[in-house]
This record gives sequence, structure tokens and C-alpha cells, in this order.
Amino acid sequence: TPKATILTADEVRRALTRIAHEIIERNRGAENLALIGIHTRGIPLAHRLAQKLGELEGVEVPTGMLDITLYRDDLSEVAHQPIIRETQVPFDLARRRVVLVDDVLFTGRTVRAALDALIDLGRPASIQLAVLVDRGHRELPIRADYVGKNLPTARAEMVKVKLQETDGVDLVELHDL
Ligand code: 5GP
Ligand code: MG
Repeated sequence: TPKATILTADEVRRALTRIAHEIIERNRGAENLALIGIHTRGIPLAHRLAQKLGELEGVEVPTGMLDITLYRDDLSEVAHQPIIRETQVPFDLARRRVVLVDDVLFTGRTVRAALDALIDLGRPASIQLAVLVDRGHRELPIRADYVGKNLPTARAEMVKVKLQETDGVDLVELHDL
């Protein structure tokens, strides 16, 4: 059972709309952008942002995905090695401003692995990071450029992110592990 509701469906929608505006403002439009979602729930989030950028700027922003899985001894342990399982980036990253998209930012290890993969794939002009929830506890010097909600958490808590596309409902909740 959840300890708290962090974002309702309306709040998820508004956060993504705000982030879309921030991306446009920071990049002076949506030309030359690309969105890369991190499996699982970063992918629908990237598609929603692409949709909003299209509506706001009339630009079709290409989207791709990286599947990065973290192996942990158990859920209460510190993260171990992130493994790149699959990359789907069916366009040239060269000179593009890439926005990585994920649901939750925690230690930063997944994003670090994603940066490696992106730099191997091409030569993006820049890489930015958008997350729905930043729950703190970074173990690397990584920060998000766009954040839906900053949520200080205990390590023994977890953020449950539900999205329409994967879970039939948009909702972010805080749980005990
Ligand atoms: P990190 O690599 O920063 O430690 O963890 C981020 C990755 O693990 C993200 O892909 C995210 O989906 C997942 N993750 C880490 N902590 C949580 C959490 O509390 N809730 C959810 N839903 N995902 C998490
Ligand atoms: Mg994930």
C-alpha cells in the first residue's frame, strides 16, 4: 500500500507539459532535437514529450530507446553494474541535441551507462536529461536538466511510477521497500 501519492494523472500531464516548454526554451525551439527513452517507462514518457513538442513547435522530433538493466544483489542494496541490452536509435545522432528521458533518477548509474551508449552511437551536439521524478541518492556527478518532481526519499523507499501505456493509469506513489 502506498505511503503517499506523489503525482496524480493531472499532475503528471502538467509536469510533462512544463518540461516540453522548458526543452523548447532551453534549446530555442525543437529543431535538431532527439528524444531517447530509457526502457521501460522512459519510452512512453519520451513519446509523450515528442507529441507535445510537435504540437507546440510543429516539428517532428525523432525518438529512440535504450534498454539498460541494473543488476542488484537485492532491492535494498546499492546498485551494481548497468548492462546495455538493446539500443534502438534509427537516425543519425550527429549534431543533434539529445534529451535522455527516464521515469526515476536515483544513483545516476543508468544515466551514466546511457551516456556511454549514446556517445558510442554517434556524436551528439549535446546530451540533456529529463526525468519524471528525482528521488536523490546520487552516487555519480549526474543531474537532470528537466525534473517533473524533486522527491527526497529514504533508501528504504521506492517510487512506483504507473503510466497509461504500461500500467493503464498515470500515477506516482511512494512505497516502503
Ligand atoms: P539509477 O541508475 O539512477 O540508480 O536508477 C535509475 C533507474 O532505475 C531508472 O531507469 C529507474 O526506472 C529505476 N529506478 C531506480 N529507483 C527507482 C524507484 O524508486 N522507482 C522506480 N519506478 N524506478 C526506479
Ligand atoms: Mg528504468
